[in-house]
Amino acid sequence: MEKKKLKTLRAAVVLAPFFILPAVYAFKDFLLRIFRLFPECLFHRMGLLCPGCGNTRSFFALLNFDIAESIMYNPDLIILCILFILLWAECAAYLIGREIKLLPRSKWFYIVLLTIFAVYCVLRNIPALHFISLA
Ligand SMILES: [Zn+2]
Repeated sequence: MEKKKLKTLRAAVVLAPFFILPAVYAFKDFLLRIFRLFPECLFHRMGLLCPGCGNTRSFFALLNFDIAESIMYNPDLIILCILFILLWAECAAYLIGREIKLLPRSKWFYIVLLTIFAVYCVLRNIPALHFISLA
């Protein structure tokens, strides 16, 4: 990618949260009404949890700054937020002339992360582990 386009993209990544996050927070009640229109997850209806089960509640818990509750519903969103914060910090540092690498570049990090996620998806469907009561 051309250097000027890359700098513009990184500036957009740095500035976007300052516009998107307040807008999402301001319209959270409206968003909640929209999400309630979505059909119930078929897995959830059958008493199981798919990888996405609990993400809506996790999102709204996060909007209420309740990180513990957000993680209990589904930790995916928090992990994505952490990765985005690292990306955001890299882009912000680049814009002030410093190149830092905070996001893991190793493919093994992402392989391990996806493996943990897959194992978690299986474990959360075992009733004895009580994940189902959370989501
Ligand atoms: Zn689901």
